[in-house]
Amino acid sequence: MTADGLTKKKAIQLPIKLVRGARRLLFGLRTLRWRLFLSYLVVSIIPMFILWGNIVNILEDHLMEERAQEMRFLSNQTAHLATDTDYMSNPIIRDIINREMFASSRSHQARIIVVDTMAMVLFDSLMVYGGNTVAGPGIMQALEGVQHSTVNDGRLITEIAPIFDNENIVVGAVIVTHRVAGLDALFSEINRLTIGFIALLGFAVAVFVMLIAQWLLRPMRHILYATKEISRGHLEERVNLSGKDEFSQLGLAINNMTDKLARVETARQEFVSNVSHELKTPLSSIKVLSESLIHQENVEGEVYKEFLTDITSEVDRMTDIVNELLTLVRLDEVELPLNLSNFSLNKMLEEVIKRLKPLANQREISIDFAELRQVNIEADEMKISLALSNLVENAIKYNNPGGHVKILLDADHKNVFVTVADTGTGINEENQAKIFTRFFRVDKGRDRETGGTGLGLSITHKTILLHKGSIKLTSKEEEGSTFVVRIPLHHRS
Ligand code: ADP
Repeated sequence: MTADGLTKKKAIQLPIKLVRGARRLLFGLRTLRWRLFLSYLVVSIIPMFILWGNIVNILEDHLMEERAQEMRFLSNQTAHLATDTDYMSNPIIRDIINREMFASSRSHQARIIVVDTMAMVLFDSLMVYGGNTVAGPGIMQALEGVQHSTVNDGRLITEIAPIFDNENIVVGAVIVTHRVAGLDALFSEINRLTIGFIALLGFAVAVFVMLIAQWLLRPMRHILYATKEISRGHLEERVNLSGKDEFSQLGLAINNMTDKLARVETARQEFVSNVSHELKTPLSSIKVLSESLIHQENVEGEVYKEFLTDITSEVDRMTDIVNELLTLVRLDEVELPLNLSNFSLNKMLEEVIKRLKPLANQREISIDFAELRQVNIEADEMKISLALSNLVENAIKYNNPGGHVKILLDADHKNVFVTVADTGTGINEENQAKIFTRFFRVDKGRDRETGGTGLGLSITHKTILLHKGSIKLTSKEEEGSTFVVRIPLHHRS
């Protein structure tokens, strides 16, 4: 690329970088720390600004009023002096009093003007209007005997007091004006101090919020780290927070969730390896059988038939496994709708027994069905039939020749109880805990001969749980097993 091309490329990249930077900054502003900071800032600084504005206004009003009172007092005092000394009619005394007026105008930093009833200026401390007339509504009002006060925008205070003679007749007026200076300097000093204070407060708030955020968000960062690790697949990671605050509770909930996830993951892995193992066995049998047929020369028809029969039975076994897996997967669906109907459990069990009778006869096993009650139940007929059928079939399959199966149907006002008891091989205590696990078989070799897939009891268990019921097993080796199933008469969703 030429140098020109390179600069062009840089020129294109610059705005992109700027946009990215701005985006990163905006994203940074969305963090909890910044939100906390801005909220604190708003809560602490805005009231400061409002207070500041109000204080300056109140202070200005107060100072102006104080000065206005002082000027009112000066105007009244001067008017009284004029009355007492006969200032208006006695020119000799006027000179002496004028000096006094000069002195007090200087000491109050005010301008004093005295006018007669014609508004002619007899005295002006600034010596500007002497001999002239001054007019204005305030002077007219004072000459009518009423004190007049004004303050204009330029902070000029004007106080006009009437002068009375000894008979209480208005003979003139005293005008006192005073421009309040120095307030702007005072206010700019106040503003400077306040801005400094607010900046300091903002800084203090920032430091305070950073510390608080650090303290508050430490557990949050811990949780964030742990959840990121967990989501990356490190299911052994846990949130280590002690305490009883909301963060600790969140940590606990995440830990529980991860425990569950880990269990599900282990179960899933086990399930997948079980499925592949279960399918691998018949597949390798088929391979061995078919290969031996392929490699043998001049195989007799009988042998062919025998081998093909074996292959077919392995295929049947695989079909059974796949079908039962499909049933289980369907039962696993969270939103599985139960196809509810009302049916007689007596009739259903009679049919189940009828269907399994040939198998029982084949093994010389007798079945006894005790119906203590006529029970109608609201449930998914197909699924319950399969669940109970599995129990009865097992009671036959894992029985001893000449053994016995007893089925009992009873109910109370809430639940139905189906007991399936056999006099078979029984299950030892260790295996009783695993019996409802998928693909679990007590004696793998022997059970495979019986055609078992190790999925029947999982299906039964799952179905009963879906109906909000329970299943209990009591068993003793070499004596037999008893399964008691409880199902609510009416389904509660
Ligand atoms: P399977 O298709 O192998 O029968 P199940 O899930 O129904 O699968 O049963 C799992 C295992 O539990 C069986 O392989 C068997 O070893 C044992 N089992 C089930 N029912 C009984 C019973 N009534 N008596 C003795 N063992 C039983």
